[in-house]
Amino acid sequence: MGLVNVNTKLHIDLEWWEKEGKDFNYFLYQEMCPECKEHIKDFNKAIYIDWIDPETAEVKRLNGLWETLITCCSQKPDYINPELPITKAVFRIFLANRNEPLSAMELAERYGDKIGVSDPHRILRILTAGKVYNGIKPIKPSKPS
Ligand SMILES: [Zn+2]
Repeated sequence: MGLVNVNTKLHIDLEWWEKEGKDFNYFLYQEMCPECKEHIKDFNKAIYIDWIDPETAEVKRLNGLWETLITCCSQKPDYINPELPITKAVFRIFLANRNEPLSAMELAERYGDKIGVSDPHRILRILTAGKVYNGIKPIKPSKPS
């Protein structure tokens, strides 16, 4: 994997989910608020929604579960809380921010209070020392083309 440090950007590696044969959408669903879980009856239908870009009028296929999590569930005050295991809290952070890569340092600075751990070295160790949790991995260095 190469050397990782507190400034290495991490994200949810969606390829990992495919390789592992795990259902990302089902895990995403598990992090939704009770109201949304109750509301979503047809799981497969909820995954795919068509969204029209207001600027370009281009129709894009979005993950409806993910959009709902961003607009509803992640806005709830207890979505990220210190009771959650760090791995789960960080998974929720990446879901809420559309998987924008963040380093352990950034996670500590921005979310330290909410996740109850503000030592970036500890966060890094938890996320990268053992097995991969929910696909949270360092981003691949861009290959020279
Ligand atoms: Zn919700």
